Amino acid sequence: MRGLQTVRGRVCSEYAGDVHIERWFGQHDRGAAAPARIHTAIATPLNRTYKTRGVVLRARNLGEADRILTMFTLEGGKLDAVAKGIRRARSRIGGRLEFGNEVVMTVHRGRSLDVIAGAEIVREHWRALVAPERFGVASAACEMVDAFCEPDLAMPEVYALLVDMLAAVARASDAKRLLVRFSLRLLEALGLAPPLDSCVQCGRPLNGDRIWLDLQATGFVDDACRQRGRAMLELDASDLRSMQLRVRPTARATEAVEMLVAHHLGRRPRTSVMLSEMQR
Ligand SMILES: [Zn+2]
Repeated sequence: MRGLQTVRGRVCSEYAGDVHIERWFGQHDRGAAAPARIHTAIATPLNRTYKTRGVVLRARNLGEADRILTMFTLEGGKLDAVAKGIRRARSRIGGRLEFGNEVVMTVHRGRSLDVIAGAEIVREHWRALVAPERFGVASAACEMVDAFCEPDLAMPEVYALLVDMLAAVARASDAKRLLVRFSLRLLEALGLAPPLDSCVQCGRPLNGDRIWLDLQATGFVDDACRQRGRAMLELDASDLRSMQLRVRPTARATEAVEMLVAHHLGRRPRTSVMLSEMQR
């Protein structure tokens, strides 16, 4: 992390990164007209302007002064929208649409992308999130929500989880340990969490002293069900307990949860790679 002064701007553009830009063009390449957006809590599709509440997941620059923001909204899930003129010094919405902030936005429907016309802050975190570890953890949480959630699909439980997480990270002295709990809860909200009290293969209670993470079965197995030929992460009762209670995750519990997230995503989140590099 370089000088704090420049963190805000640089963070947005670096965080925007290749992954998203690919996906962005991908969407358009796939063809035809942009799909109609349906925002549940917001009147009829004929309405040209709507309000929605959302968290800034990431931003990337567009043209000279604009930015495309990826928001996670309460009413409509993930949403890409343009903030015009936001990089100009005199922009009215500029300071409000920072990474991690929760806002209520007024949005005009556009032909391909909607346009953010106004934004009022609900909760503002970016000042606290410029601290490198907090920023890394908040980015990892946002990246996971971004990667797991779809546009136009409201997930209020995930929304509540994300805003609580960002508030907790902004206050935390040891933000990194919040990530395991968040990851487990996120997997749970998405219906992807492994059982933490029974073997994923045979269903017997996990009460032995040793358990193994079976990624193919996406859960934990006991001694009877472990395939001895395969390399599996081995955990003990204290690792398991730290996941069940979601307090002070052990190093192996952290590793297991990171592996599960990466398995479900099909890749390791870029920000968790960054976090482990930061710790060296
Ligand atoms: Zn078993």
